[in-house]
Amino acid sequence: MEPVSFEDIKRHNPQIKPGGRFHPLDCKSRQRVAIIVPYRDREHHLKVLLNNLHPILQRQQLDYGIFVIEMAMPTTFNRAILMNIGFKEALKDYDFQCFIFQDVDHIPENDKNLYNCHNSPSHLAVSVDKNNYKLPYPSAFGGVVSLTKDQMIKVNGWSNLYFGWGCEDDDIYRRVHLHGMKVSRGPAEIGRYKMVKHKRDPTNHVNKDRGNLLKGVRTRMTKDGLNSLTYELLKRETRPLYAYIYVRIPVPGDMKSHQ
Ligand code: UDP
Ligand code: MN
Repeated sequence: MEPVSFEDIKRHNPQIKPGGRFHPLDCKSRQRVAIIVPYRDREHHLKVLLNNLHPILQRQQLDYGIFVIEMAMPTTFNRAILMNIGFKEALKDYDFQCFIFQDVDHIPENDKNLYNCHNSPSHLAVSVDKNNYKLPYPSAFGGVVSLTKDQMIKVNGWSNLYFGWGCEDDDIYRRVHLHGMKVSRGPAEIGRYKMVKHKRDPTNHVNKDRGNLLKGVRTRMTKDGLNSLTYELLKRETRPLYAYIYVRIPVPGDMKSHQ
């Protein structure tokens, strides 16, 4: 759980290709997997994550890439729109079939927690230390989840409208169910994570509108998501351990003022 320098992580993982890509040389992976990490100002967490995740994913013999999507200041953080952007940008690089949406502070404990996709979307972070390794509520869908490319397109991705903390994960959970799918979960002893301890970030205050947004998911979901995604790509870099994507997000209020 201690941060290790990016240089040392690279040295310990010599097989990782630029952009945080890997595929096994002695077999063909079953799935091509993109790991999407929503990010702002958590370098300490990113070092802990990469130092744990790269070794695990190599042992799982995946054909994978890690994408870190950072949202420019000063706009209030929007985790879900970064997921949509990661989905879109990753597909520009490679024909990924499976997407793992991974919080930067969730560190998997068990090698058997396979980073792959199933017939239905799945919740990987089943038991997290901060929740005493218990699911906080039956429809929880936070921390780390996986959807295939087709499942993402079917539900129109994540909502773009949740600025600040809360309910964006419940929104996509409802989208999944409203499209006739069910979320699957593996056993709790396999889906175990430690969360790096932190305070609530200053630019990610609790979203007071989250309850209202969640009520409207059924009517909104066909027009709020991948098909309404707008962002400004500020930077794209192939860093040694991950692909770095830096974006500016238009705030709904700002857009109005430009109309
Ligand atoms: N996040 C970030 N910077 C921020 C706020 C959030 O990188 O300023 C990302 C990060 O991946 C984090 C996730 O969004 O793990 C969820 O936010 P947070 O950890 O605050 O939520 P929690 O689950 O701890 O309540
Ligand atoms: Mn957290």
